[in-house]
Amino acid sequence: MIQVYSWNQGALDRLLAMRRNLPHALILYGPSGIGKSALAERFANALLCESPTPAGDACGQCSACGWFAHGNHPDLRRLAPLSESDDGKEKGSRDIRIDQVRALAEFLSVGGHRGARRVVLIDPADRLNMPAANALLKTLEEPAGDAVFLLVSARPDGLPATIRSRCVRVEVPLPPRAAVARWLQDETGAGEADIASWLAMAGGRPLHARLLAEPAQAAAHRLLVQAVARIPENPAVQVADAIAAIPAASWLPVMQYWVNDVARVAAGADAVRFPDQRERLAAIAARARADRLTGFAAWLQRQTAAVDHPLNPRLFCEDLLLRYSAVFD
Ligand SMILES: [Zn+2]
Repeated sequence: MIQVYSWNQGALDRLLAMRRNLPHALILYGPSGIGKSALAERFANALLCESPTPAGDACGQCSACGWFAHGNHPDLRRLAPLSESDDGKEKGSRDIRIDQVRALAEFLSVGGHRGARRVVLIDPADRLNMPAANALLKTLEEPAGDAVFLLVSARPDGLPATIRSRCVRVEVPLPPRAAVARWLQDETGAGEADIASWLAMAGGRPLHARLLAEPAQAAAHRLLVQAVARIPENPAVQVADAIAAIPAASWLPVMQYWVNDVARVAAGADAVRFPDQRERLAAIAARARADRLTGFAAWLQRQTAAVDHPLNPRLFCEDLLLRYSAVFD
């Protein structure tokens, strides 16, 4: 059975309690990287289970739970952006497209195979493009029997208000820092300093912090720091080539820490995040204009709000590094 992260147990309990008066459509929303998808999967599993526990959770034993675990329950449909691996003929897409929504019609028009209930899981729902969202809206306006729509999103504002208004909203909050720190410790065996650093960079989001602990990700960060440290001598465009392939949500916090350390060293303090780059920081801090550095740091702070999906990651990266280069004489 899909395991729910311990910090989401409360949210699962709230969802299971809703079974007594189950809405036709729900949207699970909250920050990225906290395990909303696993939570939605578990709830979908519970809804389809044929002998649920007294609390309404999945039993993990019945044939429905078996099919669910193998990804072939006949009364479940998943909508997600198509990747090339899903279907060799389809090109990968960032969006959930209208043909995917239209394909639900037949599924919804016949009764459930095992019972009356059918579940449609849409994750991430904010990837529905406009035609797909309009088609889904029609479906939500004409509820089909016992079908339940489970939408998952870290950016519910990216969905049309008409769709949001037809869904009962269930918040999945950012877990408490102490719980996440304990979990990271169990997962990685790392020390407090590393865990604090990962958590700070990941904005407290456990799964993002867990990624930062991966050797490949740690290597990407070293690459990033090495590349950024070469500014202003190396042109920003060249540095952008080196780091644009790393997701912005992952490298932007590192950039912020780097700029903070430049500012600290420029003010005569010691580097906090990159003590091993002390000499390099001292060299570039000597060339930084204090007012421009302050301005850039403030600008950088504003970018973090929109960073999860920049429209053009390469251009965003280049623009940012050009602005950073302009800090130096
Ligand atoms: Zn079961």
